Amino acid sequence: MSRRILFATGNEGKMREVRMILENLNIPVLSMKEAGIETDIEENGTSFEENALIKARAVAACAGPEDIVLADDSGLEIDYLNGEPGIYSARYMGEDTSYRIKNANLIERLDGVPKEQRTARFVCAIAAVLPPCSEDEKAERKEFVVRGTVEGYIGWEERGTNGFGYDPIFYVDEYGCSTAELDSETKNRISHRGNALRLCEERLKELL
Ligand code: IMP
Repeated sequence: MSRRILFATGNEGKMREVRMILENLNIPVLSMKEAGIETDIEENGTSFEENALIKARAVAACAGPEDIVLADDSGLEIDYLNGEPGIYSARYMGEDTSYRIKNANLIERLDGVPKEQRTARFVCAIAAVLPPCSEDEKAERKEFVVRGTVEGYIGWEERGTNGFGYDPIFYVDEYGCSTAELDSETKNRISHRGNALRLCEERLKELL
């Protein structure tokens, strides 16, 4: 079987972004569904990096020996809230709670806090598990993890309808608006995931 990249996500939006950024590698990029892999992964790590590695290793255990497996973990860190919601970004206030409610709650928790103390960042860790360097079945697979971030601050109101999740309350100084007001090309260019993917591409080029 020839070399493939499997990206551990079921999210089509993420897959489009990943394909666009990794296209220079000239290796087909497949989602787990496209690769026919189903695993229920418990993300019980204590950092974005650990969670990404947990996912990548779990998928690699089901993948072919020549497959390159990538997995990401991302979230929003708000400095004034000691890094909350952090690795619990998807689970904050409950997985099924709407982002309208989550975003309103975060704005409320920052009530009266001045702009210079409202700093926040989106973080994305991407873990890679590579094929073993030798034919030996027991040979170790090489692994690495990269981190991409985008710095910003929490606004005073939700703005914009693009993007998803916490985008309407996350503002970037460079553009003076929230990331939900940016078109997808601009967001990909500055985003935590875009930055992590570009670092990942560089590492893969060195290692493959
Ligand atoms: P996951 O890494 O796909 O599990 O994403 C974790 C959570 O972080 C998402 O459910 C969102 O709440 C939040 N998040 C990650 N990236 C973004 C982003 O680009 N915009 C808004 N929210 C994000």
